[in-house]
Amino acid sequence: MENKIDYKKSLGQNFLFDRNLLNAIVHDAGVNKEDTVLEIGAGAGTLTRALALNAKRVISFEIDKGLKPYLDDVASEYKNVEINFADFMEVDINSIDIERAKVVANIPYYITTPIIFKLADNIDKFDSITVLIQKEVALRFASKERTKEYGITSVILQAMFDVTIPRIVKKECFTPMPKVDSALCKLVKHNRYIINDFNRFKEFVSKSFGMRRKTLVNNLKTNYDKNLIIQNLINLGYNEMTRPEEISVENFIKIYHLLNF
Ligand code: SAM
Repeated sequence: MENKIDYKKSLGQNFLFDRNLLNAIVHDAGVNKEDTVLEIGAGAGTLTRALALNAKRVISFEIDKGLKPYLDDVASEYKNVEINFADFMEVDINSIDIERAKVVANIPYYITTPIIFKLADNIDKFDSITVLIQKEVALRFASKERTKEYGITSVILQAMFDVTIPRIVKKECFTPMPKVDSALCKLVKHNRYIINDFNRFKEFVSKSFGMRRKTLVNNLKTNYDKNLIIQNLINLGYNEMTRPEEISVENFIKIYHLLNF
């Protein structure tokens, strides 16, 4: 099958065929027989099969109808699999027949961040999101303050999820081989913080990182009183010269509330 597929680079089609690796991903995701799993980008259905053997139900989305013969085989072999041919970015998550689900997917790289944010916006439906993505992007999602990868997405995602990287997947594992290595990134909802108006928080974090080399005060002073920003920074153990990448997720949330409410 591997050699017969007409891979479409524009759709981020880098497929996995190694069963040991596929099973390891399902295991890392913590999927069990009680779970409904949502998969985005079913491809030739190799991960779908591994999921079908371990989950109660698998609901998969695939944009490329050219893959229908492979996915029809999976759906006829496994009665707990449902394949939907659609662009996931156009799908209304509320229209999917699930109460709660785990997301497990080898997602197309060209829309990694929009997919993650679409899922995160519907956080009540998902207990965890385990996705194979570019290693560099995974490192950004999981990084802590005072590292070069730490930025807007790190803060926003970690405000909602514990983010870990259970496994690195070398580029040689994919067909066709992409240019860079991947990493499995696991996001588990933690409910650690209560955040007023999450969309506003996202804007606040973006503004805070506005210019990376600048201090937090310089990035925020057009929107907030400069002395108030400095006072809050000092109260949290920082100072006037502190840069956004030095501030922990917890303290970002505190500063956001202190300045806005
Ligand atoms: N799950 C398969 C595997 O692991 O071998 C395929 C993974 S491949 C990285 C990503 C898949 O997502 C491709 O099959 C591609 O056609 C599909 N895809 C790309 N854009 C999509 C979209 N907007 N909605 C749904 N599927 C999409």
